[in-house]
Amino acid sequence: MARVYNFSAGPAVLPEEVLREAAEEMLDYRGTGMSVMEMSHRSKAYETIIKEAEADLRELMGIPDNYKVLFLQGGASQQFAMIPMNLMKNRVADYIVTGQWARKAYQEAALYGKANKIASSEDETFSYIPDCSDLPVSPDADYVYICENNTIYGTKFKTLPDTKGKPLVADVSSCFLSEPVDVAKYGLIYGGVQKNIGPAGVVIVIVREDLVTEEVLPGTPTMLRYKTHVDNNSLYNTPPAYGIYICGKVFKWLKGKGGLEAMKAYNEKKAGILYDFLDGSSLFHGTVRREDRSLMNVPFVTGNQELDAKFVKEAKEAGFENLKGHRSVGGMRASIYNAMPMEGVEKLAAFMKDFEKRN
Ligand SMILES: *Cc1c(COP(=O)(O)O)cnc(C)c1O
Repeated sequence: MARVYNFSAGPAVLPEEVLREAAEEMLDYRGTGMSVMEMSHRSKAYETIIKEAEADLRELMGIPDNYKVLFLQGGASQQFAMIPMNLMKNRVADYIVTGQWARKAYQEAALYGKANKIASSEDETFSYIPDCSDLPVSPDADYVYICENNTIYGTKFKTLPDTKGKPLVADVSSCFLSEPVDVAKYGLIYGGVQKNIGPAGVVIVIVREDLVTEEVLPGTPTMLRYKTHVDNNSLYNTPPAYGIYICGKVFKWLKGKGGLEAMKAYNEKKAGILYDFLDGSSLFHGTVRREDRSLMNVPFVTGNQELDAKFVKEAKEAGFENLKGHRSVGGMRASIYNAMPMEGVEKLAAFMKDFEKRN
C-alpha cells in the first residue's frame, strides 16, 4: 500500500487514523454485527453516533446553546438556495463577491429577491479581500453574505465585515475547523464537509435559533426548510449516515490533536513553509495579496504555462497528487487542509526547490 500526498481541493485528504479506524469497524461496528452503512438511522447505535458528533462539534467550536447544528445533504451549493429561501424575509440580501463560490451564491439569491453586490474583488481576479469595514449595507437587508475562505483563489477573510447589525452568513466549506471561530459573530455558518472534515455528501449548518422560523418564502419545499431539520434533530429523513459517522471520527481526531487553537498553530506553520518558499523563489510565486493569504489553499504559478504543466506532471510522478490549479485559473494550487501532514508540505517545498534548480 502506498499513500500519496493528496493536495486536492476537495474531496480531500482525511486523517489516516480515521480511515484505519473506519476500516476496522467496517464489517462489525462495535458488536452490532453490521457496518454503519447498513444500520437504521433510527437505531440506538446510530443515535449515539450522531449525538456524539454534534456534541463534539459543539465542544470544538464552542457553539453557544442558542445555535442549532444541522447535518444536511445537497452540498454547499444547495445552501446557495436554502439560505435565501429561509432567511430572505424582506427579499433583500447583500453579497460580498470574492470568488466563484460567492458569485454562485449571489446569482442564486437573485432568483428569490434583490441580491446586492456590495463589494467585490473581481477587478483583480479575486486575488484579494476587499475592505469591508464600512460597506453600503442595505437598511432592509435580511443578511450579509460572505465566502470566508475562497478555495479557488486562495484568499481568506482575516477580519469579518462590519455588517452594521445584519446577520452574517458565511460559507466556510474550505476553512471549517481550521482555526477557532467566534460563532456568536455569525447568524449562520455552513460548509460542505468534503474539504476539511469528511466524505462528500454532508453539509453542516450552524444557525442561530431566532433565524429558524416558519416564515419562509412561499413554495419552499419541506426538505429545504431549516425548521424541518431543527425540529427533527437532522433525522427528518434518512441522513447521510455514514458520512456523519466519519465526520464524528474527525471531530474526535481534532479533539485529540488539542482542538482548534492547536490546529491553527499547526496550519500556520504548515502554510508558512510554502509561503516562505514562494516568497524566496526565483521561479514560483504566489498569486494572492500577502495579507489575505489562505492557510488552506495555496495557489502559485511559474508564469509559464508549459512549465506549470511540466511541474504538475513531475510532481505527480513523485507522489504529489492534485496540484493542478482550478480549471478556471490554471497554474497550481496546493490544498493543505487539517489532515495534510507537515511532512507532506515539507517534501513538496523540497521538491519545488529541486524543480527550480533544474528549470
Ligand atoms: C467546494 C465549495 C463549494 C461547493 O460545494 P459542493 O458541496 O460541491 O456544492 C462551495 N463553496 C466553497 C467555498 C467550496 O470550497
